Amino acid sequence: MKELDWANLAFGYLPTDYNVRCYFRDGKWGPVEATTSDTINIHMAATSLHYGQEIFEGLKAFRGKDGKIRIFRLDENAHRIQESAKGILMEPVPEEIFREAVIKAVKMNERFVPPYGSGASLYIRPLELGMSAQVGVKPSTEYLFMVLVTPVGPYFKEGFRPTNICIMRDYDRVAPKGTGRWKVGGNYAASLMAGEHAHDLGYSAVLYLDPREKKYLDECGPANFFAIKDGKYITPASESILPSITNKSLQQIARDMGIEVESRHIPLEELSEIQEAAACGTAAVASPVAEIHDLDTGKKYVVSPDGEPGPITTELYNRLRAIQLGEADDIHGWNTIVE
Ligand SMILES: *Cc1c(COP(=O)(O)O)cnc(C)c1O
Repeated sequence: MKELDWANLAFGYLPTDYNVRCYFRDGKWGPVEATTSDTINIHMAATSLHYGQEIFEGLKAFRGKDGKIRIFRLDENAHRIQESAKGILMEPVPEEIFREAVIKAVKMNERFVPPYGSGASLYIRPLELGMSAQVGVKPSTEYLFMVLVTPVGPYFKEGFRPTNICIMRDYDRVAPKGTGRWKVGGNYAASLMAGEHAHDLGYSAVLYLDPREKKYLDECGPANFFAIKDGKYITPASESILPSITNKSLQQIARDMGIEVESRHIPLEELSEIQEAAACGTAAVASPVAEIHDLDTGKKYVVSPDGEPGPITTELYNRLRAIQLGEADDIHGWNTIVE
Protein backbone atom coordinates (compact mmCIF):
# COMPACT_ATOMS: atom_id res chain seq x y z
CA MET A 1 0.00 0.00 0.00
CA LYS A 2 1.29 3.43 -0.76
CA GLU A 3 1.82 5.44 2.39
CA LEU A 4 -1.22 7.56 3.24
CA ASP A 5 -0.87 11.26 3.88
CA TRP A 6 -2.03 10.78 7.47
CA ALA A 7 -1.87 14.39 8.60
CA ASN A 8 -4.06 15.54 5.70
CA LEU A 9 -6.79 12.91 5.87
CA ALA A 10 -10.27 14.37 5.99
CA PHE A 11 -12.99 13.24 8.39
CA GLY A 12 -14.42 11.19 5.55
CA TYR A 13 -14.60 7.57 4.52
CA LEU A 14 -11.50 5.90 3.21
CA PRO A 15 -11.95 2.22 2.32
CA THR A 16 -10.14 -0.28 4.54
CA ASP A 17 -9.57 -4.03 4.11
CA TYR A 18 -12.31 -5.55 6.28
CA ASN A 19 -15.46 -4.89 8.22
CA VAL A 20 -17.03 -7.15 10.80
CA ARG A 21 -20.63 -8.40 11.03
CA CYS A 22 -22.88 -10.36 13.33
CA TYR A 23 -26.52 -11.27 12.69
CA PHE A 24 -29.35 -11.81 15.16
CA ARG A 25 -31.73 -14.40 13.71
CA ASP A 26 -34.10 -16.99 15.18
CA GLY A 27 -33.74 -15.39 18.59
CA LYS A 28 -29.94 -15.58 18.84
CA TRP A 29 -26.73 -13.86 17.82
CA GLY A 30 -24.57 -15.71 15.31
CA PRO A 31 -20.78 -15.68 14.88
CA VAL A 32 -18.72 -12.49 14.54
CA GLU A 33 -17.36 -12.59 10.99
CA ALA A 34 -15.09 -10.39 8.91
CA THR A 35 -15.77 -9.57 5.28
CA THR A 36 -14.06 -7.61 2.51
CA SER A 37 -17.39 -6.53 1.02
CA ASP A 38 -18.29 -2.93 1.73
CA THR A 39 -21.94 -3.28 0.79
CA ILE A 40 -24.75 -4.95 2.69
CA ASN A 41 -27.60 -7.06 1.42
CA ILE A 42 -30.83 -5.79 2.92
CA HIS A 43 -34.49 -6.50 2.22
CA MET A 44 -36.31 -3.51 0.78
CA ALA A 45 -38.96 -3.82 3.51
CA ALA A 46 -36.44 -3.84 6.40
CA THR A 47 -37.54 -1.84 9.46
CA SER A 48 -34.32 0.21 9.49
CA LEU A 49 -35.19 1.63 6.07
CA HIS A 50 -38.84 2.44 6.77
CA TYR A 51 -39.14 3.10 10.47
CA GLY A 52 -35.69 4.23 11.46
CA GLN A 53 -34.59 1.25 13.55
CA GLU A 54 -30.93 2.23 13.31
CA ILE A 55 -28.45 3.05 16.06
CA PHE A 56 -24.72 3.59 16.02
CA GLU A 57 -21.60 4.36 18.01
CA GLY A 58 -18.38 6.25 17.40
CA LEU A 59 -15.03 5.63 19.05
CA LYS A 60 -11.37 5.75 18.13
CA ALA A 61 -8.17 3.72 18.16
CA PHE A 62 -4.80 5.42 18.46
CA ARG A 63 -1.21 4.35 17.85
CA GLY A 64 0.57 5.21 21.07
CA LYS A 65 3.98 6.55 21.86
CA ASP A 66 5.06 2.95 22.56
CA GLY A 67 3.73 1.76 19.19
CA LYS A 68 0.78 -0.05 20.79
CA ILE A 69 -2.78 0.41 19.58
CA ARG A 70 -5.24 1.71 22.17
CA ILE A 71 -9.03 1.79 21.84
CA PHE A 72 -10.51 4.52 24.03
CA ARG A 73 -13.38 3.58 26.39
CA LEU A 74 -14.65 0.57 24.46
CA ASP A 75 -16.72 -0.63 27.42
CA GLU A 76 -18.60 2.65 27.65
CA ASN A 77 -19.58 2.46 23.99
CA ALA A 78 -20.62 -1.18 24.43
CA HIS A 79 -22.88 -0.12 27.26
CA ARG A 80 -24.32 2.89 25.43
CA ILE A 81 -25.32 0.99 22.30
CA GLN A 82 -27.30 -1.37 24.53
CA GLU A 83 -29.16 1.59 26.01
CA SER A 84 -29.85 2.92 22.50
CA ALA A 85 -31.15 -0.51 21.45
CA LYS A 86 -33.52 -0.70 24.42
CA GLY A 87 -34.68 2.86 23.66
CA ILE A 88 -36.08 1.97 20.24
CA LEU A 89 -36.89 -1.70 20.91
CA MET A 90 -33.96 -3.26 19.06
CA GLU A 91 -32.09 -6.35 20.21
CA PRO A 92 -29.21 -5.22 22.49
CA VAL A 93 -25.79 -6.42 21.30
CA PRO A 94 -24.13 -8.41 24.11
CA GLU A 95 -21.05 -6.65 25.45
CA GLU A 96 -18.76 -9.57 24.55
CA ILE A 97 -19.91 -9.45 20.92
CA PHE A 98 -19.39 -5.70 20.78
CA ARG A 99 -15.87 -6.06 22.17
CA GLU A 100 -14.97 -8.95 19.93
CA ALA A 101 -16.26 -7.20 16.79
CA VAL A 102 -14.52 -3.89 17.52
CA ILE A 103 -11.19 -5.50 18.38
CA LYS A 104 -11.38 -7.74 15.31
CA ALA A 105 -12.14 -4.78 13.02
CA VAL A 106 -9.17 -2.84 14.42
CA LYS A 107 -6.76 -5.79 14.30
CA MET A 108 -7.66 -6.80 10.77
CA ASN A 109 -7.19 -3.22 9.58
CA GLU A 110 -4.07 -2.61 11.61
CA ARG A 111 -2.24 -1.08 8.64
CA PHE A 112 -4.79 1.74 8.64
CA VAL A 113 -4.08 2.80 12.22
CA PRO A 114 -2.22 6.09 11.70
CA PRO A 115 1.27 6.43 13.15
CA TYR A 116 1.97 8.12 16.46
CA GLY A 117 2.59 11.82 16.02
CA SER A 118 0.47 12.21 12.87
CA GLY A 119 -2.51 13.55 14.82
CA ALA A 120 -4.67 11.08 12.88
CA SER A 121 -6.55 8.10 14.33
CA LEU A 122 -8.67 5.13 13.32
CA TYR A 123 -12.35 6.00 13.63
CA ILE A 124 -14.52 3.04 14.60
CA ARG A 125 -18.18 3.02 13.63
CA PRO A 126 -20.34 0.24 15.08
CA LEU A 127 -23.94 0.22 13.88
CA GLU A 128 -27.04 -1.88 14.25
CA LEU A 129 -29.92 -2.19 11.79
CA GLY A 130 -33.40 -3.70 11.94
CA MET A 131 -33.45 -6.24 9.11
CA SER A 132 -36.82 -8.02 9.06
CA ALA A 133 -39.09 -7.47 6.11
CA GLN A 134 -42.36 -6.08 7.39
CA VAL A 135 -44.58 -3.15 6.63
CA GLY A 136 -46.48 -3.09 9.92
CA VAL A 137 -45.04 -0.68 12.49
CA LYS A 138 -43.42 -2.99 15.01
CA PRO A 139 -39.90 -3.88 16.05
CA SER A 140 -37.82 -6.10 13.80
CA THR A 141 -37.13 -9.71 14.77
CA GLU A 142 -33.80 -9.79 12.89
CA TYR A 143 -30.82 -7.48 13.28
CA LEU A 144 -27.42 -6.83 11.77
CA PHE A 145 -24.67 -5.48 14.00
CA MET A 146 -21.58 -4.38 12.14
CA VAL A 147 -18.34 -2.50 12.69
CA LEU A 148 -16.54 -0.50 10.04
CA VAL A 149 -13.38 1.49 10.54
CA THR A 150 -11.73 4.30 8.61
CA PRO A 151 -8.66 6.43 9.26
CA VAL A 152 -9.42 10.08 9.98
CA GLY A 153 -7.12 13.06 10.05
CA PRO A 154 -6.51 15.46 12.91
CA TYR A 155 -9.70 17.37 13.66
CA PHE A 156 -8.01 20.72 14.06
CA LYS A 157 -6.07 21.27 10.85
CA GLU A 158 -5.64 24.96 11.58
CA GLY A 159 -4.79 24.25 15.21
CA PHE A 160 -6.93 24.20 18.33
CA ARG A 161 -8.84 27.45 17.65
CA PRO A 162 -12.15 28.70 19.04
CA THR A 163 -15.06 29.13 16.63
CA ASN A 164 -18.41 30.90 16.84
CA ILE A 165 -21.66 29.06 17.45
CA CYS A 166 -25.26 30.27 17.37
CA ILE A 167 -28.60 29.83 19.10
CA MET A 168 -31.72 29.44 16.93
CA ARG A 169 -35.21 28.69 18.22
CA ASP A 170 -36.74 27.60 14.93
CA TYR A 171 -35.43 24.05 15.10
CA ASP A 172 -35.32 21.28 17.67
CA ARG A 173 -32.97 18.32 17.40
CA VAL A 174 -35.18 16.08 19.51
CA ALA A 175 -38.40 16.15 21.54
CA PRO A 176 -38.43 16.61 25.35
CA LYS A 177 -39.12 12.95 26.08
CA GLY A 178 -37.94 11.74 22.71
CA THR A 179 -34.90 9.86 21.45
CA GLY A 180 -32.25 12.47 22.26
CA ARG A 181 -30.63 10.39 24.99
CA TRP A 182 -29.95 7.56 22.55
CA LYS A 183 -27.59 7.44 19.59
CA VAL A 184 -30.26 7.05 16.94
CA GLY A 185 -29.60 7.89 13.28
CA GLY A 186 -32.91 9.75 13.05
CA ASN A 187 -31.70 12.37 15.53
CA TYR A 188 -29.07 13.33 13.00
CA ALA A 189 -31.59 13.59 10.16
CA ALA A 190 -33.58 15.91 12.41
CA SER A 191 -30.54 18.12 13.00
CA LEU A 192 -29.34 18.51 9.40
CA MET A 193 -31.47 21.51 8.49
CA ALA A 194 -30.44 23.53 11.56
CA GLY A 195 -26.78 22.58 11.00
CA GLU A 196 -26.87 23.66 7.36
CA HIS A 197 -28.55 26.90 8.26
CA ALA A 198 -25.91 27.66 10.90
CA HIS A 199 -23.04 26.78 8.53
CA ASP A 200 -24.51 29.02 5.83
CA LEU A 201 -24.42 31.87 8.33
CA GLY A 202 -20.78 31.14 9.18
CA TYR A 203 -21.21 29.30 12.47
CA SER A 204 -19.59 25.97 13.26
CA ALA A 205 -22.62 24.61 15.16
CA VAL A 206 -25.99 25.28 16.74
CA LEU A 207 -26.20 25.49 20.50
CA TYR A 208 -29.63 23.98 21.09
CA LEU A 209 -31.88 25.07 23.93
CA ASP A 210 -33.99 22.56 25.80
CA PRO A 211 -36.88 21.59 23.53
CA ARG A 212 -39.57 21.97 26.23
CA GLU A 213 -39.07 25.53 27.48
CA LYS A 214 -36.14 26.93 25.46
CA LYS A 215 -34.72 28.21 28.73
CA TYR A 216 -31.74 25.94 29.31
CA LEU A 217 -28.69 24.92 27.32
CA ASP A 218 -28.86 21.49 25.69
CA GLU A 219 -26.48 20.03 23.09
CA CYS A 220 -24.07 21.76 20.76
CA GLY A 221 -24.72 20.33 17.29
CA PRO A 222 -23.90 16.60 17.49
CA ALA A 223 -21.75 17.18 20.59
CA ASN A 224 -22.18 17.93 24.30
CA PHE A 225 -21.43 21.38 25.70
CA PHE A 226 -19.44 22.42 28.74
CA ALA A 227 -18.31 25.73 30.14
CA ILE A 228 -15.88 26.92 32.77
CA LYS A 229 -17.47 29.27 35.26
CA ASP A 230 -15.46 30.66 38.18
CA GLY A 231 -13.12 27.69 38.02
CA LYS A 232 -15.93 25.10 37.89
CA TYR A 233 -16.74 22.73 35.03
CA ILE A 234 -20.44 23.10 34.26
CA THR A 235 -22.34 20.99 31.74
CA PRO A 236 -26.05 20.78 30.90
CA ALA A 237 -28.06 17.84 32.25
CA SER A 238 -31.37 17.01 30.58
CA GLU A 239 -33.45 14.11 29.38
CA SER A 240 -32.81 15.03 25.74
CA ILE A 241 -28.99 14.99 25.86
CA LEU A 242 -26.94 12.06 24.59
CA PRO A 243 -24.52 11.12 27.39
CA SER A 244 -21.16 11.86 25.75
CA ILE A 245 -18.32 9.59 26.81
CA THR A 246 -15.87 12.41 26.06
CA ASN A 247 -17.80 14.69 28.40
CA LYS A 248 -17.81 12.00 31.09
CA SER A 249 -14.03 11.57 30.65
CA LEU A 250 -13.35 15.32 30.75
CA GLN A 251 -15.41 15.57 33.93
CA GLN A 252 -13.26 12.87 35.53
CA ILE A 253 -10.06 14.62 34.43
CA ALA A 254 -11.42 17.89 35.81
CA ARG A 255 -12.06 16.21 39.18
CA ASP A 256 -8.55 14.73 39.05
CA MET A 257 -7.29 18.31 38.64
CA GLY A 258 -9.29 19.41 41.70
CA ILE A 259 -11.93 21.19 39.61
CA GLU A 260 -15.50 21.01 40.83
CA VAL A 261 -17.99 19.56 38.32
CA GLU A 262 -21.65 20.54 38.07
CA SER A 263 -24.00 18.62 35.79
CA ARG A 264 -27.31 20.49 35.94
CA HIS A 265 -29.79 22.71 34.13
CA ILE A 266 -27.91 25.76 32.84
CA PRO A 267 -30.14 28.77 32.12
CA LEU A 268 -29.27 30.55 28.89
CA GLU A 269 -28.50 33.79 30.77
CA GLU A 270 -25.66 32.06 32.59
CA LEU A 271 -23.68 32.30 29.35
CA SER A 272 -22.83 35.87 30.33
CA GLU A 273 -21.03 34.57 33.44
CA ILE A 274 -18.72 31.97 31.87
CA GLN A 275 -15.02 32.31 31.09
CA GLU A 276 -14.55 29.34 28.72
CA ALA A 277 -16.77 27.06 26.65
CA ALA A 278 -16.41 24.11 24.28
CA ALA A 279 -18.34 21.45 22.42
CA CYS A 280 -17.12 17.94 23.22
CA GLY A 281 -17.27 14.56 21.50
CA THR A 282 -15.12 11.77 20.08
CA ALA A 283 -14.40 13.53 16.78
CA ALA A 284 -12.60 16.55 18.25
CA VAL A 285 -12.43 15.86 22.02
CA ALA A 286 -13.12 19.55 22.69
CA SER A 287 -13.85 22.36 20.20
CA PRO A 288 -13.42 25.66 22.00
CA VAL A 289 -16.01 28.39 21.53
CA ALA A 290 -15.16 32.03 20.86
CA GLU A 291 -18.59 33.70 20.72
CA ILE A 292 -22.18 32.58 21.01
CA HIS A 293 -24.69 34.61 19.01
CA ASP A 294 -28.36 34.42 19.88
CA LEU A 295 -29.87 35.00 16.44
CA ASP A 296 -33.38 35.63 17.79
CA THR A 297 -32.52 38.30 20.36
CA GLY A 298 -29.35 39.66 18.77
CA LYS A 299 -27.44 39.09 22.02
CA LYS A 300 -23.77 38.15 21.69
CA TYR A 301 -21.93 36.27 24.41
CA VAL A 302 -18.20 36.81 23.98
CA VAL A 303 -16.54 33.85 25.68
CA SER A 304 -13.03 34.35 24.37
CA PRO A 305 -12.31 38.06 23.80
CA ASP A 306 -8.76 37.36 22.54
CA GLY A 307 -9.79 34.46 20.29
CA GLU A 308 -7.63 31.98 22.22
CA PRO A 309 -8.83 28.73 23.79
CA GLY A 310 -9.15 29.02 27.58
CA PRO A 311 -6.44 27.57 29.84
CA ILE A 312 -8.66 24.98 31.54
CA THR A 313 -10.19 23.77 28.27
CA THR A 314 -6.69 23.46 26.82
CA GLU A 315 -5.39 21.54 29.83
CA LEU A 316 -8.37 19.16 29.78
CA TYR A 317 -7.90 18.57 26.06
CA ASN A 318 -4.16 17.91 26.42
CA ARG A 319 -4.63 15.52 29.33
CA LEU A 320 -7.27 13.47 27.55
CA ARG A 321 -5.18 13.26 24.36
CA ALA A 322 -2.15 12.21 26.41
CA ILE A 323 -4.10 9.27 27.87
CA GLN A 324 -5.33 8.21 24.42
CA LEU A 325 -1.79 8.30 23.03
CA GLY A 326 -0.18 6.44 25.91
CA GLU A 327 1.81 9.52 26.93
CA ALA A 328 0.15 9.76 30.34
CA ASP A 329 -0.75 7.01 32.81
CA ASP A 330 -4.16 5.53 32.15
CA ILE A 331 -5.10 5.71 35.83
CA HIS A 332 -8.79 5.00 35.27
CA GLY A 333 -8.27 2.05 32.92
CA TRP A 334 -9.90 3.70 29.91
CA ASN A 335 -7.80 2.15 27.16
CA THR A 336 -8.10 -1.33 25.69
CA ILE A 337 -4.71 -2.29 24.32
CA VAL A 338 -4.96 -4.35 21.13
CA GLU A 339 -2.42 -7.15 21.45
C1 LIG B 1 -22.11 10.83 19.75
C2 LIG B 1 -22.74 12.08 20.26
C3 LIG B 1 -22.09 12.91 21.19
C4 LIG B 1 -20.68 12.69 21.66
O1 LIG B 1 -20.51 11.52 22.36
P1 LIG B 1 -19.05 10.94 22.58
O2 LIG B 1 -19.28 9.66 23.26
O3 LIG B 1 -18.30 11.90 23.40
O4 LIG B 1 -18.45 10.79 21.22
C5 LIG B 1 -22.78 14.02 21.67
N1 LIG B 1 -24.02 14.32 21.24
C6 LIG B 1 -24.67 13.56 20.33
C7 LIG B 1 -26.02 13.94 19.91
C8 LIG B 1 -24.05 12.41 19.83
O5 LIG B 1 -24.70 11.67 18.93
